Amino acid sequence: MSALEWYAHKAYGDGIYWIQERFYESGNRANIWFVRGSHQDLVIDTGLGLRSLPEYLHSAGLLENESSGGRSKPLLAVATHVHFDHSGGLHQFDQVAVHRDEVDAIARGDNFETVTWLSDSEIVRSPTPGWRASNFRVQAVQPTHILQEGDVLSLGDRQLTVMHMPGHSRGSICLLDRDKKILFSGDTVYDGSMIDWLPYSNIGDYVGTCERLIELVDRGLVEKVLPGHFSTFGAERLYRLASNYISNSGVCHRMSTCAIRSFASLVLHATNSRGTTS
Ligand SMILES: [Zn+2]
Ligand SMILES: [Zn+2]
Repeated sequence: MSALEWYAHKAYGDGIYWIQERFYESGNRANIWFVRGSHQDLVIDTGLGLRSLPEYLHSAGLLENESSGGRSKPLLAVATHVHFDHSGGLHQFDQVAVHRDEVDAIARGDNFETVTWLSDSEIVRSPTPGWRASNFRVQAVQPTHILQEGDVLSLGDRQLTVMHMPGHSRGSICLLDRDKKILFSGDTVYDGSMIDWLPYSNIGDYVGTCERLIELVDRGLVEKVLPGHFSTFGAERLYRLASNYISNSGVCHRMSTCAIRSFASLVLHATNSRGTTS
């Protein structure tokens, strides 16, 4: 199957495009956001990487040439965090940006920290003949850009500020477009329950992150959230999701989280060791 068939996109407006992997039918299917700038384009998250995303961007006509002489613009792929559903395609790009706390994990291709979890039934059409989910691994890639809190990604006419928002994972980031009041939130917050029981999740950090999200709303800095999964939503919903997390992060929640976390670690370890012996 060609890259052009594998993905689909929709214009969100204002130079932003929403891309999805058409044949990955799973709650883990992540949103891929393409953001066009005057001097640089950005891909926020990259999906599983089962077909070439750069090739798709090119053949679907999303990569416009710069007006001056038709030179192609730089294209930077940034991961909101390195979980497999967001980072699987990073290795396909020349320019790759990741938060510094997750650089080692992606540079090693650490399929425990990337929480690689894929079954044959979720991939409803084979990307290549004989493809099997059990062989899927996030491929190692050395990031060219190491991000930290406060960094600004300049696309020319558009600036995105990096906010380090640990909790879901240790190197999770959100990207804030202050002019347009748009927050690219990754898995830190989407319209569903927040996941804080994975390897390198941290409930205390997550509470602090949610406090920052609430502050963004209070200060009127966010109007639209473009999340890592499911649909986009507005400031009011963002406020509710963040404040619900804080009020539910009491002792009971912590205890059930502990149980789930141990179970998840066992499963992931088992998956990982199976992978290394095959
Ligand atoms: Zn995640
Ligand atoms: Zn995700």
